[in-house]
Amino acid sequence: ARKKIIAGNWKMNMTPTEAVELVNTLKPLVVNEDVDVVFCVPAIDIIPVMEAAKGTNICVGAENMYYEDKGAYTGEISPAMLVDAGVKYVVIGHSERREYFAESDETVNKKVLKAFEYGITPIVCCGESLTQREQGITIDWIRQQIKIAFLNVPADKAAEAVIAYEPIWAIGTGKVATTEQAQEVCGAIRACIAEIYDEATAEAIRIQYGGSVSAGSAPELFAQPDIDGGLVGGASLKPDFGKIVCYNK
Ligand code: 13P
Repeated sequence: ARKKIIAGNWKMNMTPTEAVELVNTLKPLVVNEDVDVVFCVPAIDIIPVMEAAKGTNICVGAENMYYEDKGAYTGEISPAMLVDAGVKYVVIGHSERREYFAESDETVNKKVLKAFEYGITPIVCCGESLTQREQGITIDWIRQQIKIAFLNVPADKAAEAVIAYEPIWAIGTGKVATTEQAQEVCGAIRACIAEIYDEATAEAIRIQYGGSVSAGSAPELFAQPDIDGGLVGGASLKPDFGKIVCYNK
């Protein structure tokens, strides 16, 4: 069986000082041996959060990474920098990066390949807009995002990846997808992985739901056969994140 993975995405919140306080508040609340717990934090918070989370079950992740090894790319963070800081996960292609920072399926693919090259597990984000959902093209759109994101990724690496399905209309809106909607798309993503690779890879890969996940909605979402956890924005900054992580307790 796949181990659940529940990740917080702090987005552009928490100064280094606030970040340490938040980790100290949350660390006794996020203890659940059935779940991999990841805090994806702003780059400047990575080292203090790593220090504050030492000796706990919390894994530290990054929210973004560049796809070149090093060099003249002012303002970017390299994969080697993340590895050196002890980072195990990196969010790739969040819809906010696609919308505000011109990321595309192609740059997402470059970043996914680079993350694997450095032994960092990518949390690959996909999701449709409200217009696309209303047009009935959700599944086609997601399949295209996944196919391009995983171009040239070998099966053994893909099996270790995490995919986050985040409908854009559900992010930060308080409008969570219905359990049926979330399961339908996560199931379609797994079927797409089986088509690209094989059943074993599809069975191994972990697929999260993200978009207004709360302590209330988490248990039912995470009970779905193809939902292996969540990527949590707003609620990851509050003690409620403890309830989300301990959804089965
Ligand atoms: P919210 O949980 O705030 O809706 O954000 C979801 C998200 O974008 C996580 O990556």
